[in-house]
Amino acid sequence: MKAHDGMYIGGRWRPAAGPDTIAVVNPADEQVIAHVPAGTAEDVDAAVGAARAAFPGWAATAPAERAAGIARLRDVLVARADEIAETVTAELGAPLAMSQTVHAGVPVLVAGSYAELAASYSFEEKIGTSTVLLEPVGVVGAITPWNYPLHQVVAKVAAALAAGCTVVLKPAEDTPLTAQLFAEAVDEAGLPAGVFNLVTGLGPVAGQALAAHEDVDLVSFTGSTAVGRQIGATAGAAVKRVALELGGKSANVILPSADLAKAVKVGIANVMSNSGQTCSAWTRMLVHKDQYEEAVALAAAAVAKYVPGERVGPLVSAKQQQRVRGYIEKGVAEGARLVAGGPAAPLERGYYVSPTVFADVTPEMTIAQEEIFGPVVSMIEYADEEDALRIANGTVYGLAGAVWAGDEAEAVAFARRMDTGQVDINGGRFNPLAPFGGYKQSGVGRELGPHGLSEYLQTKSLQF
Ligand code: NAD
Repeated sequence: MKAHDGMYIGGRWRPAAGPDTIAVVNPADEQVIAHVPAGTAEDVDAAVGAARAAFPGWAATAPAERAAGIARLRDVLVARADEIAETVTAELGAPLAMSQTVHAGVPVLVAGSYAELAASYSFEEKIGTSTVLLEPVGVVGAITPWNYPLHQVVAKVAAALAAGCTVVLKPAEDTPLTAQLFAEAVDEAGLPAGVFNLVTGLGPVAGQALAAHEDVDLVSFTGSTAVGRQIGATAGAAVKRVALELGGKSANVILPSADLAKAVKVGIANVMSNSGQTCSAWTRMLVHKDQYEEAVALAAAAVAKYVPGERVGPLVSAKQQQRVRGYIEKGVAEGARLVAGGPAAPLERGYYVSPTVFADVTPEMTIAQEEIFGPVVSMIEYADEEDALRIANGTVYGLAGAVWAGDEAEAVAFARRMDTGQVDINGGRFNPLAPFGGYKQSGVGRELGPHGLSEYLQTKSLQF
């Protein structure tokens, strides 16, 4: 695959500071498809310098002009959608149809929403006798994961640019090619030099250097809780702003009045999507004890349609494959009942994991508590609504969730009591303007829509 051998800094591709590279692997066939430079602290420093130099000009640019720039960026993403989809499929392994609709499609919606928001947002408000100015925070360090290689980037960069911030991006080492394509799109859209900069590299090297850089004003991170905790501590010590989008163990609560067949089918589809590599996936299915065996049979039938190598792609890497298979082994060892799938790899080549459903999962089991990040569903039975609520709220996470009921008001009443940042009612639907982010250890801050934009603003009051 086509790859740049340098970093995108200050509006042009520049040679990397060091000689090291990272091999990019296609997880569907385990072949090396490209190499990208492994950035160092020196590259990060150059990128932060370019972002700092560009900041005053971009911050002073009229919101309508920033909006026009983001709209041009969206148009380039539309024009290059096929290339984006092929690149995501090559480095993430997602089936091409999924890459076309979700991986290439959702970022267009998000970029479009920020083009509109930049133009319509009130960057100034009156409160009593004061005027409150909402001003961009400054230089943003964005660190993104591999699971939605373009969406994760656009959710941060488009919001930051709309607010008037400038950005240095350190994308995941597993999916740097999509990030390089995004940098090309920024360039093609004609955004001013330095407003967006890209440094590819390893987390503990380039990521760490970016998070710790003293001229970065805000770090926005999406990824594992372990790394998020570290980044939060570093940012705290430097008294700099931080946004953390971390893991989840979301509950899909099916109340007795729900359409059980639909709820189970959509619930399975939700977890199988992107091979389970979605932080908001409804990985715990909660079913009333009287409907439990019927739901297990429905889940087994539904998951059989997810054939590895066809509808379900591989996991992103050998490391993730081993991790997920380890969790499946643990589920078996702790006494859960395998209804479908299991630890054996379904295909000889590629980092595939068998779509797996566990029944007889108790809330204390590892597979009911820890984020697995693979195509694995844990079915848990509950005795009554209070029991369901206790189980739903009984993890350290609180990112997303779902409630199904015959009556929407009944589902909403339950959702109000859930300790989580987003709840889909009877299936829900994606809204690029709705805030996304976690309660509890799922994170700090929100992405998307006006709430996502406000993360990148700081407030100044003028007293009269
Ligand atoms: P990770 O947290 O290690 O990586 C995420 C990003 O952080 C990458 O860009 C990585 O290079 C960078 N990074 C890693 N170490 C860093 C450090 N010390 N300082 C600064 N940046 C650093 O995640 P992973 O290893 O790719 O995945 C592990 C687990 O994380 C997954 O199994 C899953 O549970 C979770 N995860 C969650 C999300 C999400 O959307 N919330 C996304 C991906 C992974």
